Amino acid sequence: MKKIEYEHWGLVPVNRWRWKYFTPKELASKGNGSIKILEHALDKLERVREQLGRPLVINSAYRDPEYNARIGGARMSRHKVGDAFDISLKGQDRHKLHRLCKDAGFTGFGLYKTFLHVDCGPRRQWGKWSQEAQ
Ligand SMILES: [Zn+2]
Repeated sequence: MKKIEYEHWGLVPVNRWRWKYFTPKELASKGNGSIKILEHALDKLERVREQLGRPLVINSAYRDPEYNARIGGARMSRHKVGDAFDISLKGQDRHKLHRLCKDAGFTGFGLYKTFLHVDCGPRRQWGKWSQEAQ
């Protein structure tokens, strides 16, 4: 699968980046600054952003293995694969966001208090999804 993969986000050639709503910097690992993102996943994220019509804040996208371990991420985290995004729920309708992400083709969903995790891994869902559970 095609992917954007560089030792540092600053090394991504401008002509390799075709996503207008997101920058390499915001999707790079917050550990060592490297970036590995599967292009089909980024295409989906771009579609969600387009459909929503308003900015999305990505708390976490790619995570290098060391950083992922340091913050207690799952050992097999999709953030290490490069097809997962944690989207901030601040000011967002989480149900609408979830639906748009589903429509865009994301298959894994984890609902947290402040963000929605989406990925392109096996079809699954976790978190508190009922209306009253905030
Ligand atoms: Zn996540």
